Amino acid sequence: MSKVVVLTGAGGVLCSTLAKALAKEGHKIAVLDLRKEAADAIANEINISGGVAIGIEANVLEKDSLDIAKAEVNSKLGTCDILINGAGGNHPLGTTSKPFLFKEDLEDTTDGFKTFFDLDPTGIKFVFDLNLIGTLLPTQVFAKDMVGKQGCSVLNISSMNAFTPLTKIPAYSGAKAAVSNFTQWLAVHFSKVGIRVNALAPGFFLTDQNRSLLTQDDGSLTPRGNQIIEQTPMGKFGKPEDLVGTTLWLCGEGASFVTGVVVPIDGGFSAYSGV
Ligand code: NAD
Repeated sequence: MSKVVVLTGAGGVLCSTLAKALAKEGHKIAVLDLRKEAADAIANEINISGGVAIGIEANVLEKDSLDIAKAEVNSKLGTCDILINGAGGNHPLGTTSKPFLFKEDLEDTTDGFKTFFDLDPTGIKFVFDLNLIGTLLPTQVFAKDMVGKQGCSVLNISSMNAFTPLTKIPAYSGAKAAVSNFTQWLAVHFSKVGIRVNALAPGFFLTDQNRSLLTQDDGSLTPRGNQIIEQTPMGKFGKPEDLVGTTLWLCGEGASFVTGVVVPIDGGFSAYSGV
């Protein structure tokens, strides 16, 4: 059955792939993104290939912006059945330069070098807002449409770093842990009104954002890229398409008794102790 699916951050790499896959299943797609051109470009691609989509500029941190987006979705596509909270990300101000602190690091005056003691609360707040508040606010706005309807669900995008934090990124790891925790809380809260709430926990996906961190210009791996592959039992990075099967399952009838789960899609990274 055709559903109305709203995806935030869907001008980006991972959620644009999910938007296209859901359109192929016959669903009507609202592509929301802070970047209007990116949202429109994905919606156009879907429409050209025979699907139904609209691109909408929306800021997941501003309720007014989301209310305006919802009015457009409701008038052009209908009420929302499925919400995928894809907007999210990290910030350099919430990231340390090195995985471990050594005493001599406190004397390092290299421009931009950051230990734990230099982390800027504005960077930490940015990351918590974008990932947690940016998941909560769209859910407040769009899940109202779902109350009392059949077959509705919310899918959040957490990360495998929510299970065990990755080195250097305390803000992003903590914010995604909050997204996972919120997913469970909301699944319980919404359980009596028929809205299922689940999350994906992607591992390492090679995207434009992290390509330079993980690979060199000639395509070979950086030391961090190498370390990740060594810690990933399946020995490779994920591709955006690897998220599609689990998304269709969690948003479909096959998962009608599944709520409050956070599914790792990480080639075994979070299952592996390294030994
Ligand atoms: P991306 O940067 O390609 O996409 C994120 C999109 O969100 C961008 O199009 C951006 O314009 C949009 N956005 C940013 N701030 C926004 C705001 N305030 N309001 C609305 N839209 C906003 O990133 P991606 O790799 O596709 O990541 C998608 C999600 O998956 C994020 O939540 C990310 O944290 C998560 N994730 C990614 C990876 C990975 O390896 N790429 C791994 C685990 C989790």
